[in-house]
Amino acid sequence: MPTYLSKILIVDDQAANRLAIKYMLEKINIKIFEAASGKQALSLILKHDFAVILMDVVMPGLDGYETIRLIHSTERFQQIPIVMVTSYGTKEQYIKAYEAGAVDYVTKPVEPIVLTNKINQFVELSQQREAAQIAQREQAMVAASMEGLLNSAGEGILGINLTGEITFANPKACALLHARKEKLTQKNIQIFFTSAASQEINTEPDTEALSTNIFKLLRRKSSLTDTNERWMTVTGETFYVEYSCEIIRNNKGQQIGGVVTFQNISERKAIEDRLTRLANYDPLTNLANRAYFHDTLTKAMARSRRTDSKLVLLFLDLDHFKDINDNLGHDAGDLLLKIVSRRINQCIREGDVAARIGGDEFAVIIYDIDSLTGVVQIAEKIITTVNQPVDLFGTDITTSTSIGIAIFDDYKTNLDELVKAADIAMYTAKTNGRNRYQFFKQKMQQRATKKSRIQVTLAQALDGNELSISYQPKISLKKSRVIGLEALIRWTNSNGEIIAPKDFIPVAEESGQIHALGEWVFERVCRQIKSWQDLPGFDGLSISINISALQLKAGGFHRQVEGILNKHEIEPGRLELELTETAIMSKPLITARELHFLHELGIGISIDDFGTGYTSLNYLKRFPIDALKIDQRFISAIGLDDRDEDVIKIVMAIGRTLGIDVIAEGVETNAQLAFLYSIDCDLVQGYFFSEPLDQQGTTKMLEAIGTTYSDRFDNFKRYINDNNLQPLHAGKLH
Ligand code: C2E
Ligand code: CA
Ligand code: CA
Repeated sequence: MPTYLSKILIVDDQAANRLAIKYMLEKINIKIFEAASGKQALSLILKHDFAVILMDVVMPGLDGYETIRLIHSTERFQQIPIVMVTSYGTKEQYIKAYEAGAVDYVTKPVEPIVLTNKINQFVELSQQREAAQIAQREQAMVAASMEGLLNSAGEGILGINLTGEITFANPKACALLHARKEKLTQKNIQIFFTSAASQEINTEPDTEALSTNIFKLLRRKSSLTDTNERWMTVTGETFYVEYSCEIIRNNKGQQIGGVVTFQNISERKAIEDRLTRLANYDPLTNLANRAYFHDTLTKAMARSRRTDSKLVLLFLDLDHFKDINDNLGHDAGDLLLKIVSRRINQCIREGDVAARIGGDEFAVIIYDIDSLTGVVQIAEKIITTVNQPVDLFGTDITTSTSIGIAIFDDYKTNLDELVKAADIAMYTAKTNGRNRYQFFKQKMQQRATKKSRIQVTLAQALDGNELSISYQPKISLKKSRVIGLEALIRWTNSNGEIIAPKDFIPVAEESGQIHALGEWVFERVCRQIKSWQDLPGFDGLSISINISALQLKAGGFHRQVEGILNKHEIEPGRLELELTETAIMSKPLITARELHFLHELGIGISIDDFGTGYTSLNYLKRFPIDALKIDQRFISAIGLDDRDEDVIKIVMAIGRTLGIDVIAEGVETNAQLAFLYSIDCDLVQGYFFSEPLDQQGTTKMLEAIGTTYSDRFDNFKRYINDNNLQPLHAGKLH
């Protein structure tokens, strides 16, 4: 029969998992403790002796392996058997568990019978050990006299009278207080007290009240586990103490004195402190870790509410850190993180807290700031300091950081909201060009919310019937007819709201949904080509599709396109792709290769929004391009800005040099059209002729062959006559 209940500890961040294991072990007579994190496990281990620890591998904060390493870093705990609970039964997992110091493992889902057997074995082992120890202790007790017992006690024991004078001290007490027995027995116990405790007593000298005070104090203190209490030895050294006091009464029940038992816990405290440090700080950079950052921020927010002081949170993310890691290796990456951490620390005030909360993400908590200028100064200082050149094992690089700033005072938020606000602001700083700071604004919140709503509803839109395609004609002035169509996606959600492509395309690019979306557009357009194929009005026409840079970068794009064309049996010449100038320039090599494949197939390629990205002529020559589309912004500046008109003329010249078509986008007025006509720009697109039309509208337009847009051409002819310009089809105008 066990003489006491064995204790076991379940470490798992999921309450449900802990409950399941507890339930399985219900039949075993043990006391079960639970820890929801590695940190909590460490503090329980300091207080209890466990027969065995069941340790989950994957936990936020300290994971299972790290927790075992921390436990084993202290000799006292190395004997505790630890059983790892792993999710995968792979050999690597077991080896990793054993290497970390586990003695056994079980795999998830945990088999009740296996677990019960294992735990039973460990419990039995620990009970055998414990039983032997108890027997030993009992023997010793019987053998020793009272005096002997006191002398051999591992704790210091002091007898005191009602005034606190020491009447008895055992050898251990003498050793702990660095004094001979004779010396101790004349002293008052209060001389060992440091700090507030002794002052409290000193105010009231040798009276009845004093003795009551001492006992009150001793009693009170013994019931608290205040590990910060220190005593001072006779020779003046201080040590951390843990003590308790028993009151001694005479046979009438009157208090006549007390027995104080105490021990030096400095060593234990040092271990605890070291564990706290390991659990709270990032070993690479020595900054606070994520867990500690959260604790600190929670406290800081409570304090800010209480004292009505300003609290500011900075969120930092290194710019292009991944490139450095990829190109110079992880050692260089680690070194950079260390250097940057040191620099951040240099820029903040004492008392403010810098933490590393992710790979290359940092946070700074700034307390009690009285003005926004103060925050700006800190942010600017960090930006310039981080921006100084760095020597990474002989390679000189310059790094930079983007900072998001959220002020707690401005809106009474919870921790998650505050962190999110700083994160959103940081993200905005990135999109605004990096190497800068950005204060959080409510508008960003709205934008972020809108974005995440779009992301969720877009998934439904893709499955449902909410997406469609509109087609905008491309017109040749000289031929007075439609020469092609541009497919433009349209989204009307289930509430009948129209969401513009400029609002959801970037979101889809960010979330990866652009691939599914792009495929949907391809499918839909190909089916459309098929159904219009035999309409006389569609003769010789092609449809262009807008392609996002990400679609090309994924690799194998041309094969995907080829597959769809084959599936629908469509001639490649019916299809054209539009890519923006910035898209092709972002990964020019991959893009050039993909475009050559596609062009080989017979698919037309246009560069969209041309004129905005400063592509050099030499570069353009490397891409197989059929047309340049002059960005709408230049067209709308016709008649208003000479420089923009010059850009249009330059694009025309580039087109002529390279022998490729030029299309003007967004043509709305006679005046714009006249200007374009005057510089021999033949191809136009825009509201002047037609807005994008839905499928039915497009079909009608195609069927009106011969009379299509004749009213518009008439309108323009009249304008030309009225303004004495050269008539249409009269040849070139320059
Ligand atoms: P974009 O390729 O430059 O398309 C031209 C945009 O200008 C279209 O807006 C069109 O409706 C509009 N537009 C045409 N003529 C005029 C005009 O005379 N005046 C004015 N003010 N606007 C005119 P939309 O349809 O809202 O599309 C915006 C952008 O979204 C497109 O710019 C394109 O980059 C992107 N997009 C549209 N559909 C798709 C798609 O299926 N896939 C991808 N990746 N992007 C698409
Ligand atoms: Ca386009
Ligand atoms: Ca465009």
